[in-house]
Amino acid sequence: TTEDQWRPFNRSRVYMADLESTLHYSLRLELAAHPVIKGEALSALQRYISVLAKYFPGRPLVRNLLKSVDTWLKGQNDTELSYSSLRDVLDNTAEVPDAALPDGVRWVGCQGSKPHFRRYPCGMWTLFHVLTVQANEAAGKDPQEVLQAMRSYIHSFFGCQACSTHFENMAKESMSYVGTLSTAVLWLWSRHNHVNNRLAGALSEDPHFPKIQWPSPELCPSCHGVKKSGEHTWNQEELLTFLRSHFSSEHLLSDYLE
Ligand code: FAD
Repeated sequence: TTEDQWRPFNRSRVYMADLESTLHYSLRLELAAHPVIKGEALSALQRYISVLAKYFPGRPLVRNLLKSVDTWLKGQNDTELSYSSLRDVLDNTAEVPDAALPDGVRWVGCQGSKPHFRRYPCGMWTLFHVLTVQANEAAGKDPQEVLQAMRSYIHSFFGCQACSTHFENMAKESMSYVGTLSTAVLWLWSRHNHVNNRLAGALSEDPHFPKIQWPSPELCPSCHGVKKSGEHTWNQEELLTFLRSHFSSEHLLSDYLE
């Protein structure tokens, strides 16, 4: 997509097409850089697929595929895995009925004004916000399950090295204090804002999508408060309500799906 070829979209909504594109990019392109997956990377992959199989709020077709990958992976007893064997399951070469992961990317809410802006990293943030909210809705047992899956995936596989170092530092600092599913939603929101703050004005910033402390007062007026001293504050309760609605499965838009 370039500026003159936008897919029209609503900036205040989340699109399933971005989530499916993220899965395609992650599972078929990023992981393919690892012909053999073992040790720490293998357990990172298992955790990632496990949270996707549990919480990805996708179409039945895609959920079935993720579940079949999860079941297959859990049945592997070898200490290492070849990417090509994983790829066969992803592409459903065994032809399990009603299971598929669409091929290719169709960025919508994550479109950038130039090819090197936004896209996959935007999709990755969106995916994990959605997953923390889904785990919250599903009353998952382990409040850190999704965050730890994200942490280990980013550490073992995320193509941007500087990003994974930064994220690991934030995780080390405070992820272990997350004790409830709603705190996990808020932790990821606040760490993402931390990154936005660091990257505001950087060369990687798409001028059409300036890095802000998100959500803007337009998107969520009640999330913002002001102390008597005039200092900006976040209303955590309102924020949680907002995040749980913004990233909820009922709220995802299905435009541009294949
Ligand atoms: P993104 O920051 O990707 O956000 C995507 C969308 O999420 C936004 O459009 C908005 O709708 C929503 N959003 C924004 N803020 C929040 C929030 N606080 N909570 C919930 N939703 C929000 N790039 C670097 O150059 N250096 C780094 O160190 C770096 N670290 C990264 C670490 C991780 C784990 C990831 C996934 C990406 C990292 N990136 C880094 C990439 C960078 O954060 C952006 O993803 C990229 O610049 C694209 O920005 P964007 O405008 O699409 O917005």
